[in-house]
Amino acid sequence: MDNPRYAFFEGKIVPIEQAKVDIRTNSLQYGTAVFEGLRSYWNPQAEKNYVFRMQEHYIRFEESAKILMINLPYSIKELSEITIELLKKEGYKEDAYVRPFAYNSGLHIGPKLVGNPQDVFIYSIPLGDYLDISKPIDVCTSSWTRISDNSIPPRAKIAGSYVNAALQKTEALLNGFDEAIVLTSDGQHVSEGSAMNIFMVKNGILSTPPLVDDILEGITRNTIIEIAKDELDLEVVQRSIDRTELYTAHELFFCGTGAQISPIGTVDKRKVGDGKLGEVTRKLQALYFKIVKNHVEKYSCWCTEV
Ligand code: PMP
Repeated sequence: MDNPRYAFFEGKIVPIEQAKVDIRTNSLQYGTAVFEGLRSYWNPQAEKNYVFRMQEHYIRFEESAKILMINLPYSIKELSEITIELLKKEGYKEDAYVRPFAYNSGLHIGPKLVGNPQDVFIYSIPLGDYLDISKPIDVCTSSWTRISDNSIPPRAKIAGSYVNAALQKTEALLNGFDEAIVLTSDGQHVSEGSAMNIFMVKNGILSTPPLVDDILEGITRNTIIEIAKDELDLEVVQRSIDRTELYTAHELFFCGTGAQISPIGTVDKRKVGDGKLGEVTRKLQALYFKIVKNHVEKYSCWCTEV
């Protein structure tokens, strides 16, 4: 069975082959679209799929749309219902990824955010691990800096801004690394990975760059902040981080819906700690995977059954 089989397109669920846009579509030309990325996790014991933090993802979708002056034709409740209906029809028995996309669907030439028809589509794909989470990965500092709030706002998930991520990821891969660490637009501080947030552990304190350091406010980042404090009793600090602080960190990891929790073994060829999976990262990983598969009752409000 080839997946996906369906998409929500132009107001209804259709076979994926019918979900096609015109080559003149404004957002295809100029990247004038916003999107989300959600995961649904397969729980083999319950034989059920659960979408993780759907409400939070659709709130961010609305906020991204607002920044890009896209009027979403659906409420968060409607988007959530469509998502569940779509996943039910796909009937995955594995982890999957959902991609809602709100875009300037008109055919006008010219990059502008007003006077354009707009629409939403949603599709899903089966998705295993996006980054290797079984062993620490090798990363480099990118020569490409993050976009700034006053160029393309990174707090919104804007389609066109992922050219920035693609340059970073590609440079890392071509130089033999797994992923890139990206500095803020002024080059002064650590921002995030190409499409994931970053955390540092030093002397038992968990630190992550603040919202004003050109990051996307990751839902996984917020999840980690909450569970690290409440379940692991860790001190969590949001503060600017220097590049060379990474070189002497005891542990580093990326996090994101796609990336999940991915330990970092080396940065710019310097070993992080002893280069092996650290204790804090290991504990957070274990807890995170229990929570997303709806094995922890306290957090079952984050898991929507398909
Ligand atoms: N930063 C960027 C640039 C991203 O694209 C993502 C993935 N959405 C993240 C961080 C992580 O965000 P989340 O945990 O909400 O997936």
